[in-house]
Amino acid sequence: MTRIVEQGSDVAPVKDFSECDRLELEAALVAIGEPAFRGRQVFQWLHQRDVVAFEAMTDLSAPLRARLKTEARISEPTLETKQVSSDGTTKFLLRLADGRHIEAVYIPDTPNQTFCVSTQVGCAMACGFCLTGKMGLIRNLTAGEIAGQVRVLARETHLRTSPFNIVLMGMGEPLHNYDATMKALRILADPQGLAVAPRRVTLSTVGLVPAIEKLAQEEVMPNLALSLHATTDEQRNALVPINRKYSLTQLMDACRAFPRRRRGRITFEYVMLNEVNDTPDDARRLARLLDGIHGKVNLLPLNEAAGIPYTRPSDTRVNTFARILADHGVTVSVRKSRGRDIRAACGQLLVEGTEARV
Ligand code: SAH
Repeated sequence: MTRIVEQGSDVAPVKDFSECDRLELEAALVAIGEPAFRGRQVFQWLHQRDVVAFEAMTDLSAPLRARLKTEARISEPTLETKQVSSDGTTKFLLRLADGRHIEAVYIPDTPNQTFCVSTQVGCAMACGFCLTGKMGLIRNLTAGEIAGQVRVLARETHLRTSPFNIVLMGMGEPLHNYDATMKALRILADPQGLAVAPRRVTLSTVGLVPAIEKLAQEEVMPNLALSLHATTDEQRNALVPINRKYSLTQLMDACRAFPRRRRGRITFEYVMLNEVNDTPDDARRLARLLDGIHGKVNLLPLNEAAGIPYTRPSDTRVNTFARILADHGVTVSVRKSRGRDIRAACGQLLVEGTEARV
């Protein structure tokens, strides 16, 4: 249970251990006179053994468990509803401590098991075809809330001890919530915790160039996916407003400079909007733009929704576009839309009726 401590009261604020990486947890235990390894034990209970109740952490002494119960807490997003699509994709509606809601999605057998998690409540990027973008940004998620989604999904899908992938492709722009996102990835990667290898994690971004440059220096580095969606500045300015700040040239330079894992490539996501950005000329321009970049293209035929002023192109148009890219030597795939019947597909994550724009 979350204990609410009023600001300004003389009660010391209760520390939320779910927000701590392992070193911080060790420091927190040292600060109350315990050896550092006790912090590591708590971290293992939480992230490796999936135990959130202090009283169940049986290798801690009874007095320490009792003390932690009053002086610390472990918060976690609460599962509110679960919707299973005909294709097995499962959408989870989660409630946060402040009553806000987020969605996270389990996508089975692609052939991997994949968790798609959110990094913000809403999103400030306002891409013209994305429903989440219509909400505006309500708030950033904390590192604990980002890592917590993975814990909840792993538990619910019984995949905690199996390999799974994580895509930061839910609600929000991960690089607009940089510090919390990177801290969550460090918590998730920790060998004493869930030990999710960074190569199993893909971060998708609209292209915040300075943040991409910062990401390039990180030790725990996810794979990069870039939401490109257009091949000229004019067109991208209209579809992805952040392009007015960071042009295509700046963006492609940052991609060229991004370090590559062995055999790793940047994924360029390209949402296809009927008769807007899906012509053979667009395909040829896209191939030229990617010339010299170790990348691959993932085409996302638009998932239509009320309030989105674009339509989905026909399969023929999608295939023609893909063929032109392939003929120019570009590796291309078409994203099979998963979970459309439960509105769990890309760009459809929006919690209707439960949030107000701030
Ligand atoms: N903010 C990040 C993370 C979201 S990832 C980003 O933009 O990359 C979700 C992906 O789905 C992005 O590539 C996004 O552009 C795409 N998308 C958004 N709305 C969509 C829609 N209606 N149909 C298909 N793809 C969409």
